[in-house]
Amino acid sequence: MNIPFQNSYARLPARFFTRQTAVPVKAPKMIRFNDALARALGIVPGDADEIAKVLAGNLVAPGSEPLAQVYAGHQFGGFSPQLGDGRALLLGEVIDTAGQRRDIQLKGSGPTPYSRMGDGRAWLGPVLREYVVSEAMHAFGLPTTRALAAVATGETVYREAGGLPGAILTRVASSHLRVGTFQYFAARRDKDGLKALYDYTVSRHYPHVEGPAHLLAEVIRRQAKLVAGWMAVGFIHGVMNTDNTAISGETIDYGPCAFMDVYHPQTLFSSIDVQGRYAYDNQAHVIVWNMAQFATALVPLMPDQDEAIDEFTALIHAMPDQIETEWRRAFGRKIGIAKAGVDDAPLIGDLLARMAENRADFTNTFRALLTGKARDQFLDPKAFDDWETQWRDRIKAEDDPEGVMATANPAFIPRNHRVEQMIEAAVSGDFAPFERLLKALAHPYLDQQEASDLARPPEPDEVVQNTFCG
Ligand code: AMP
Ligand code: MG
Ligand code: MG
Repeated sequence: MNIPFQNSYARLPARFFTRQTAVPVKAPKMIRFNDALARALGIVPGDADEIAKVLAGNLVAPGSEPLAQVYAGHQFGGFSPQLGDGRALLLGEVIDTAGQRRDIQLKGSGPTPYSRMGDGRAWLGPVLREYVVSEAMHAFGLPTTRALAAVATGETVYREAGGLPGAILTRVASSHLRVGTFQYFAARRDKDGLKALYDYTVSRHYPHVEGPAHLLAEVIRRQAKLVAGWMAVGFIHGVMNTDNTAISGETIDYGPCAFMDVYHPQTLFSSIDVQGRYAYDNQAHVIVWNMAQFATALVPLMPDQDEAIDEFTALIHAMPDQIETEWRRAFGRKIGIAKAGVDDAPLIGDLLARMAENRADFTNTFRALLTGKARDQFLDPKAFDDWETQWRDRIKAEDDPEGVMATANPAFIPRNHRVEQMIEAAVSGDFAPFERLLKALAHPYLDQQEASDLARPPEPDEVVQNTFCG
């Protein structure tokens, strides 16, 4: 196996991380290796046994300098001055075939100095959930970390539910730089560290950027687009803490995340989010709050702090409008409008209000706009008919509404009940549902007759109410 590792993060000042090797596991066994992604990363897999050992942490690959990154973060609004990779290790980076630097990280690789009340391990459920959901996110065309591999450890991990099979995910990211990484140095008043982090971030992600305000504007732009993109596929991240907000603009840290079945703006699944802070439609507000924390962490880098605060405040205040624009574009496409304008917002809002009132399935209603069967999704189909008249009238002005809708409205999402059923099967040794989900979700915009059951909403007894961190 050859992974052409580079270790630019390990070249940063020592206080950015702790060098740490994974704790070997009893019986590493490959569950799935993402060959296509490996090729794109320039990895030559070679011997299967060896790959499983490397990606279980039993063998340090040549060139890898494993480390645990330190960061801080606001968790549900409260600041934790020191967090870090408590169950993850950065093995190093590779330059992919497109010339992009990508992190290769193990998740579930054992304790580190940053482990908090935990074993540093992961069980099979969250590993397979992240594998499926992150790969689906990629197939939707949304920026996200990817899954390179899932390995079974042959060990038991203890959680509230009892003993569960252990697993390790290999995650690939544009980087693991977080809002919380900036907050860590800012909170310690470590200006040199903050400057080193800024320089590293700019050269890695935003080489065209001139100054912290420009960086802030760029991250805001990417995050506004990302969150609107999530909303357009009915995604609820679940833990939008600032340590789970990536500077790259990728979706990161899939925990109790979920997709909505029935549309309701306040939908929430996470068992730990008692206040509903990260409910579906709150995501658009929370990301602004998170960017305000990023801005605060950047202030010490500015020569004139008062001026910086004014400039940053203006950028933060402009963000809701940017999100609104991205949201309107994304939802406009879902109803066949290539470039929705301000005047189109009421039409979109009206449909969503009717969907909420009529318990319409989010994914299937939009998809059915293509087949003329959307009215069947409404408790009272007349609620759709009234809207449809205005809509048909509006899309007369569009060149190719069907074409636009076909690439904006997935037929397949990782439905909660399917994910849960998949995990249950995997725990008892059957990985066929996992492979089947992955296969369908690799082409979410394609009607796939043989997978039509995966597009169906849950039966009443299949509905999943809560998702967990794992
Ligand atoms: P997360 O909710 O996954 O973003 O994790 C929040 C923090 O808790 C991070 O610093 C994690 O590294 C840490 N953490 C989560 N799960 C574990 C675990 N099983 N063992 C050790 N640390 C953990
Ligand atoms: Mg160190
Ligand atoms: Mg996290």
